[in-house]
Amino acid sequence: GSTIGILGGGQLGRMLAVAAAQLGYRTHVLAPDRESVAAQTATSLTRADYHNRIVLGDFAAACDVVTYEFENVAVGPVEWLAERVPVHPHPRALAVAQDRVAEKRFVEGVGGRPARWAPVADRDDLAAALETVRCPAILKTARFGYDGKGQMRLSSLADADAAWAAIGGPAVLEAFVSFTHEFSILIARGQDGATVRYDAPHNVHRDAILRTSTLPAPAEVEAQAEEATALACRIAAELDYVGVLACEFFVGADGPVFNEMAPRVHNSGHWTIEGAECSQFENHVRAICGLPLGATARTGDRVEMENLIGDDPWSAALADTHAHLHLYGKHSARPGRKMGHVTRVRR
Ligand code: ATP
Ligand code: MG
Ligand code: MG
Repeated sequence: GSTIGILGGGQLGRMLAVAAAQLGYRTHVLAPDRESVAAQTATSLTRADYHNRIVLGDFAAACDVVTYEFENVAVGPVEWLAERVPVHPHPRALAVAQDRVAEKRFVEGVGGRPARWAPVADRDDLAAALETVRCPAILKTARFGYDGKGQMRLSSLADADAAWAAIGGPAVLEAFVSFTHEFSILIARGQDGATVRYDAPHNVHRDAILRTSTLPAPAEVEAQAEEATALACRIAAELDYVGVLACEFFVGADGPVFNEMAPRVHNSGHWTIEGAECSQFENHVRAICGLPLGATARTGDRVEMENLIGDDPWSAALADTHAHLHLYGKHSARPGRKMGHVTRVRR
């Protein structure tokens, strides 16, 4: 059998490893910290190890294909790996998606429309950006943000100093979108360019962390899903993308407003494990291994995925014999930490 290398050791890697095992693949996880939950057997590495060419060389030699489950892995080591072993998605997708400035420019280049925004490298830029973007706005760190970390809302110009002190640059200032709904588009693209799409879930966040993904989405989302999917397909084609790509959107007054993309499997796609014929994890494995993609049709009329965050109780999910409970095996339940999720499919 062949071995899939996964960069990143979180729950996404863990669920990828489960899907890979089902298809007969071995997985080798390179995790940048000691809290990896992706594999019981992986050697946990320090961040320094991750930049160590001997460690990376051993990893490349042990794998037939490499993928990533975390977009904040450094691009340099991934490009180095890509010279030695096939890496999917291509490191360019990683480079674009891990920098909000590059990401917004790239997406605008293929016809996508983010909220009004401006790049912010220093404090003077922020002053200039506030004139064009205007308040309310959000200052977001350009790199290394996730789950709403590294962002701050500005209701008026008076918030500029505090926001700059908290976030700093490089960052982007973007207009606050008073959206009615948020949704995501997940597609999978194979090595031959064949692309499949999942139904768009309606995503509800609390404190900038995803709480629920629900299908079918309300009519407002359905009305914009087609245009958003077309954009996701253009992004993928332009990047010669292989694997699952997720794009987040707001329902805008005149069409989908692009928020951000993730060059990987995505939390808003966890419902596909039980709620779609072939899950996002299996389709990602199929894509990177050069296999034909699986069908994405829903298995039920209604599907809801709910995240278990911090010390959210999960006993109710166990008591409901129809609920699919997933626990990620994390040791400590810090506030805001994703500990698991529950999926309910109604047929
Ligand atoms: P993740 O990568 O975990 O999805 P992130 O830290 O990259 O999160 P964003 O997706 O940019 O953060 O923002 C998190 C949430 O904050 C969004 O899903 C949305 O609910 C809200 N949000 C972000 N940008 C805006 C905006 N411009 N207007 C209104 N709400 C926003
Ligand atoms: Mg993000
Ligand atoms: Mg997001």
